[in-house]
Amino acid sequence: MKVFSLLGSRYFPEFSLIFILFEIMFYILTGFNRDFIIVSGVTFMLLSILLSILTERRERAVKKIKAVIKGINRNEFSSPEEIVLEGSLHDLELEIRKMYNKMRSDIEYLKKLEKIRTEFLANVSHELRTPIFTIQGYLETLLNGAMDDPSVNTMFLKKAIRHTGNLSNLLNDLIDISMIESGQMKMTFVHFKVDEFMQNIIKEFTPLAASKGLELRDNTIREGLQLYADKPKLKQVLGNLIQNAIKYTERGKIELIVEEEEKSAKIIVRDSGIGISTEDTQRIFERFYRVDKTRSREIGGTGLGLAIVKHIVEAHGSKIEVNSEINKGTEFSFRLRK
Ligand code: ADP
Repeated sequence: MKVFSLLGSRYFPEFSLIFILFEIMFYILTGFNRDFIIVSGVTFMLLSILLSILTERRERAVKKIKAVIKGINRNEFSSPEEIVLEGSLHDLELEIRKMYNKMRSDIEYLKKLEKIRTEFLANVSHELRTPIFTIQGYLETLLNGAMDDPSVNTMFLKKAIRHTGNLSNLLNDLIDISMIESGQMKMTFVHFKVDEFMQNIIKEFTPLAASKGLELRDNTIREGLQLYADKPKLKQVLGNLIQNAIKYTERGKIELIVEEEEKSAKIIVRDSGIGISTEDTQRIFERFYRVDKTRSREIGGTGLGLAIVKHIVEAHGSKIEVNSEINKGTEFSFRLRK
């Protein structure tokens, strides 16, 4: 049986050719000895059987490997343990299992990315639609006669203008997010004097805080203290945190604190505002997540500010943290290297 199956074997022609050449050579070398023909014939038979066994075993293994690969492509396995090859192929079995695990986690990751992308697109469309429809509504009302009504015309125009402001904030934040996430955000780190930098920030945002009757203050910072950061990006982070603090605080004060440590400094923005619940603090850094959607939109929020802050702080090798208590206040903090 084995001999016959050898006839179908892939190596039979090569094997026969080499054997016949040896046969002729030995026949000549043994002085045309007829017994040699018998011995060599039997040897040929035995070697054929051996070759046949080896070939069949190898082909069975290749067939099994092919079946496993096909099974992976057709998603027939639900766990790597279902991939089994015969004992001598144990190493290959381990490698295929590893490849299977990697493929599955890559696919999961791609699916997750696709879901995030779709959700992001849906959110962007929704966020863009809201101010555009509102502006359109005011303009149409004005055109349909309100333009000649002095009791509402200026108010409608002011509201329309306010929504163009929201639209522009949203577009700016979207540009920032896309620059950050496509890896195009260029960082330029320098050592800078912290006290001067913080005082300028306080000066810039004091009028906004004062417009709500809030006090904005910083702590005493050691004169020579220098930190290492990208200054414009750091200004964007602090600006965002301070603006949020002002937005979500009705009375009290907002503090910008620098606590010097051995090799770094902790930067804290603390307010005495409405606070954030524990569940919400887990989600506020997600894109478009707002605790109170209507209120955030009303006061010109985009829901992207903290997502941008988180990215920038992480690009400084740090981590943004939040501590908050409802109706007591909120504290955002991160560290910068000296
Ligand atoms: P928004 O543009 O809506 O302010 P952010 O990403 O900056 O978006 O903030 C996300 C949400 O986190 C806000 O909608 C708000 O609910 C909450 N939040 C942020 N900062 C504060 C704060 N200092 N006090 C209370 N809530 C805050």
